[in-house]
Parts: sequence; C-alpha cells; structure tokens
Amino acid sequence: MSKVLIVAEHLGGHLNASTAKCVTAAQALSPEAIDLLVLADAPEAVAAEAATLAGVTRVLTIANPANAQAIAQVLAPQVAGIAAAYSHVFGPSTTFGKDLMPCIAALLDAPQVSDVMAVEGTHVFKRPIYAGNAIVTVEAPQDRPVVATIRTASFAEAARGGSAPVEALTVEAVLPTHTRFVGLAAGSSDRPDLQSARRVVSGGRGVGSAENFKVIYDLADKLGAAVGASRAAVDAGYCPNEMQVGQTGKIIAPELYIAVGISGAIQHLTGIKDAGTIVAINKDPDSAIFEIADIGLVGDLFQILPELEAAL
Ligand code: FAD
Repeated sequence: MSKVLIVAEHLGGHLNASTAKCVTAAQALSPEAIDLLVLADAPEAVAAEAATLAGVTRVLTIANPANAQAIAQVLAPQVAGIAAAYSHVFGPSTTFGKDLMPCIAALLDAPQVSDVMAVEGTHVFKRPIYAGNAIVTVEAPQDRPVVATIRTASFAEAARGGSAPVEALTVEAVLPTHTRFVGLAAGSSDRPDLQSARRVVSGGRGVGSAENFKVIYDLADKLGAAVGASRAAVDAGYCPNEMQVGQTGKIIAPELYIAVGISGAIQHLTGIKDAGTIVAINKDPDSAIFEIADIGLVGDLFQILPELEAAL
C-alpha cells in the first residue's frame, strides 16, 4: 500500500494552490496515507491551511529559521531525512518543485518522474514529451521511493473541509553551507499569480514595446486577470521573464486565456494546452493561434483592445 509525502509550496504564510493539486494526484494512487510536509521558519499558519485539504492524513511541520526561504539545497536534506517512511514523495511541477524535487531524488538515489499528468498505477505515470506533442507512459522502479513532480495544469485542487492533525517534527539533517540565502529580487504586483490565475491575458511580439504592454495590463486589470507573455515578448524586453508562458516558461490552465499579438508557436501552445476558453487577437488571419482558439478576433490589437475594454 502506498504512503505519499507531499512537500507543500507556500509563500507569505499562504499555501500555494499547487499543493492542493498534488493531493488530488496522490489520491489517484488510493494510498494508505497522504502526509503534507510544511517546511518554514514559522509553519503554523500554512499548516492550519494545509490541514483543511480533504484527503490529507497528517500535516507535518519542520520549523527552522533556515527554512524561511525556499532554498532547494537546504530543504532537500530535511525532506530526505523523513522520506524513508514513504513510497512516494510528490511536489508540484512549479518553479519551487522543479528546483527542489531533483535534489530530493538525488539524495534518495531515486530517479525522478517529472511532470506527471496522469496516474496509471502506483509506479506507472503519463507525462508529456516533445513540448507536449506526445504523451509517454513511464514506469518507476519498485525498489525505491517514487520522487515525482506533478503537472499542476493536469489536476484539479483537492476539496477543502478536511481537518487533518498537525504534528511538529524535528529532523537530524546536516544543512549545507555552500548554498545560502543572499537576497530576493522579485517584481511586486497586485495582480493574481500567473500560475494559479483563473483568467490570463498574454501579450506577444505583436504588442511591439514595453510601453505598449500597458494595453495588456489595462485589459487584465479590467478582468481581474494575471498577465503573461510569449518568449518573443520577454526576449525583446517588453516584460520580465517570470511572465513567460510556454515550454520554457510557465505551464498554466486558466479558465480564460486571451492571447494578444501571439502567433501560436508550438512552444507557446504547450503552456496553455489545458486552458479552458482560448481567445486570440491577431491581425494575421492565417496565424496558427486561430487553429486552437475557441474565439478569434482578426484585427489590429491597438484598435480591438480599447474597444473590448470599453465594452467590458
Ligand atoms: P511572433 O511569432 O513574432 O508573432 C507575433 C504575432 O503578432 C504575429 O502572429 C502577428 O501577426 C501578430 N501581430 C503583430 N502586430 C499585431 C497587431 N498590431 N495586432 C494584432 N496582431 C499583431 N515561446 C513561448 O512563447 N514560450 C516558450 O516557453 C517558448 N519556449 C521555447 C523553447 C524553445 C526550445 C524554442 C526553440 C522556442 C521557444 N519559444 C517559446 C519561442 C517560440 O518558438 C516562438 O518564437 C514565440 O512563441 C513567438 O512569440 P510571438 O508569438 O509573440 O511572436
């Protein structure tokens, strides 16, 4: 029988929605237990939130000032220190999980299963390859823990309403000194988080400049949406790297995705495969984005966006 340990992702005292999606993936194993691990300097608030996720058996906390920042090399030995009791160790396929889980896998001498999009059996999973153009079924070895990242776009959040007990742990783990927190440089924004937003407006090279990106921000604010971008827009310096959607950016699954001045390259589309309604605004009627769009508007974005905003 499987026992799953999920490493909780959190920021600013709040649990990230990606953790609730990992719980849903874990439930597909019909496991004996699903334990959630919160590593933080003061884990109480996050643990209380995690305890409400339906299907969670226990919430475990490891409080340590060294855990104030999510540094993979610091967190990994602590997770590995308690992993022996589990058949599976899951984390989200977000920047946090993609950084941390390989370190845990290395310490456990286990091969990592990346980007799990479906659970076929306790050791058999489906995952995308070739930018999502093909789905491969992989089998992890039975003789060691399965360390996996869970593709958050492929699983719904577990329901709330649970009341799992919270237990504080202490682990004897030697923390590295070669990697330490120096500083954090992050853009501040009142807009929703791109990775978990229900609505996203993205701009591409067609927007033309960083100044012009204002039309994207304005529409997003009108809709209460997060803002994304194509890689061409990021490479051209119109917006920061953290806004990139796609194969080498963020994989997202909003209910509404509005692509503005984006041609629809396969590497971009791989980031929005699980989006609900896709709206494309592009002046080229032959643009590939229209092949996957549910609603297409052919025309100049600088004319359409103000009209759309006024109508909204
Ligand atoms: P373009 O392809 O140049 O398209 C611009 C569009 O804007 C055109 O369709 C044009 O008709 C339209 N347009 C121009 N002016 C207007 C206007 N006034 N009104 C309306 N429409 C207008 N790309 C990603 O996005 N994400 C990734 O993660 C990613 N990863 C990659 C990884 C690899 C290994 C490689 C090789 C490439 C990757 N790319 C990625 C790049 C990808 O191949 C494309 O180059 C990129 O997505 C193109 O961005 P774009 O659609 O904004 O630009």
